[in-house]
Amino acid sequence: MPQPRESGSGPGDRAPLPSARPAGLAPGLVDRYGRRATDMRLSLTDKCNLRCTYCMPAEGLEWLAKQAVMTAEEIVRIVRVGVDHLGVRELRLTGGEPLVRADLIDIISALRKAHPELPISMTTNGVGLDKKAAALKSAGLSRINVSLDSLHEETFAQLTRRPFLDRVLAGVDAAWAAGLGPVKLNAVLMRGINDEESPSLLAWALERGYELRFIEQMPLDADHGWTRRNMITAAEIRELLSVDYVLGPDPRARDGAPAERFEVRRRDTGSGDATGPVLGTVGIIASVTEPFCSDCRRTRITAEGKIMSCLFSREEFDLLGHLRAGATDQQLAERWQDAMWLKPKAHGMEHVGLDAPDFVQPDRSMSAIGG
Ligand code: SAM
Ligand code: SF4
Repeated sequence: MPQPRESGSGPGDRAPLPSARPAGLAPGLVDRYGRRATDMRLSLTDKCNLRCTYCMPAEGLEWLAKQAVMTAEEIVRIVRVGVDHLGVRELRLTGGEPLVRADLIDIISALRKAHPELPISMTTNGVGLDKKAAALKSAGLSRINVSLDSLHEETFAQLTRRPFLDRVLAGVDAAWAAGLGPVKLNAVLMRGINDEESPSLLAWALERGYELRFIEQMPLDADHGWTRRNMITAAEIRELLSVDYVLGPDPRARDGAPAERFEVRRRDTGSGDATGPVLGTVGIIASVTEPFCSDCRRTRITAEGKIMSCLFSREEFDLLGHLRAGATDQQLAERWQDAMWLKPKAHGMEHVGLDAPDFVQPDRSMSAIGG
């Protein structure tokens, strides 16, 4: 797999990044455009046991060597630098598939011990979650997001290239029973495959009290097969849902959240108006067609300890190599600040396939970055 450009890298290379971050700035992960990152996404592994068509190729990817991946202790140290020195207020564990890490429970226990009040959530494909949900809760995980694109066995298997729907559904139920709620479900809609299923997926989630979020497919698939024509847009998602439901604005503040949330009420088949009580909410993450870059509060750490200021960054900055070479917390914090200072203004995706020939898809797929 071609690797993205890496700047200022090399374990032990303590040279400042070419960021020209002005001295004397307020502490924290600020960038040139006035944003402050407080939401940290940390990838625990690049490995995965599914092969979702919009993320991984059928044959998988070349996994990172074990020694290249952050150990539990390194993860705890990096999170501590983020929280204690840089104003990180929220942590999401992701991957690859976090549940495939054998020391996952130990990592969460250690993070919780170090940060008793920190909201720690995890995004998972749910395979094996039924067996681990209770232990995750006891270890200190606050909440969970499970990816679920279809409730039909065949469609699920077509999208993930694995026949594991039952296992995922058992995982979702177990997470709820273990108290890892509110349980959020992530669904990516693919044209002609699961797009028509979106209202029944929503009905299923509403009945059980899960918060479903539809995510626009982004050009982050390893096969580079994404096309604008095939992507189901947020506008289309609203239209698909509006046959059965009326979506009203959610009065809660969006507060930098990627999902635009809507209150859901049933649509009266006769009058076409909303009828009955609010059934719950649904979220739509319109990263491509209605980007929220100007409000972005994210900073990302890949499984091999590289800082990515944006999913679409073509530059990444080594943090783990510096940690292993003996950098102090203060030095790590400064390097992280330098990297975030260079965060691009926007990903440029809103025009891809239209009039932005300069948009270049990152070499890494979603699983290798940490979605
Ligand atoms: N393996 C876990 C999972 O699937 O939930 C965590 C990692 S996965 C990369 C995180 C999220 O990214 C999932 O909800 C998945 O659906 C989403 N995702 C992956 N590739 C995507 C793409 N090309 N566009 C939009 N979302 C994508
Ligand atoms: Fe694995 Fe998650 Fe990517 Fe699917 S979306 S292949 S489950 S990392």
